[in-house]
Amino acid sequence: MRTDVLGVAFDNVTMAQAVERGLELARGDGFSYVVTPNPELVMMARRDPAYARALDGAALTLPDGIGVIYAAKILGRPLQERVPGVDFACGVMEGLARTGGRLFLLGAKPGVAQQAADRLRSRYPGLVVCGVHDGYFQEDAPVVEAVRASGADVLFVCLGAPKQENWMVQNGAAAGVRLAVGLGGSLDVFAGTVKRAPEGWQKLGLEWLYRLCKEPRRITRMIKLPGFLCRALWCRIRGT
Ligand code: UDP
Repeated sequence: MRTDVLGVAFDNVTMAQAVERGLELARGDGFSYVVTPNPELVMMARRDPAYARALDGAALTLPDGIGVIYAAKILGRPLQERVPGVDFACGVMEGLARTGGRLFLLGAKPGVAQQAADRLRSRYPGLVVCGVHDGYFQEDAPVVEAVRASGADVLFVCLGAPKQENWMVQNGAAAGVRLAVGLGGSLDVFAGTVKRAPEGWQKLGLEWLYRLCKEPRRITRMIKLPGFLCRALWCRIRGT
């Protein structure tokens, strides 16, 4: 079941349900992709119809940010829980390690995806990372060919928004994978170059504050959060 939050239809799933669905898609026929929007991306979709269509075409739309959870509550249609993309990716990798599925990592600065691959292989014994590529390329075609040649089943696309969602729409099927997942800065986390908030902060829904303390320049992006919640309140009051 999907829940509309300011124009983006989120799947109202728990983390376990999301991972199960993701793994089903990774075994399925044809190509599907997963998006993990936070409030900033919902606001981006409100301004950019092409980007809104890219989000709408996803087989699974997961609420990555705590702001989405608050907005859904304010709108009177609460979502079950926050499903951070980075944790969803861990669940998918656990499943791939069990079943022998092949994973390609695309994105981040040169060297980061390789470092992430090395760490992920030791964290998930049996995981086949069949290729990596950095996210600072000029032409899509050679990257699409590299993914296709690797025989990957699943592709993590970590190019930041809106680049990663548009890339999945335009190139995902040609890359020959069954499932692509847009995951923002997750490769930096997997590589260990960026630290996630301690679990206590995550449980309190304060991961955004931790990130802001670590990277103060994110303020220009996060400043949109109060406006996002006010808009949800306004929609609730007007009954739209
Ligand atoms: N990135 C990339 N290619 C680009 C622009 C960005 O690979 O052309 C990478 C960047 O290095 C970082 C990720 O995309 O690893 C975006 O991270 P950000 O923290 O902005 O994403 P978020 O997690 O906030 O969605």
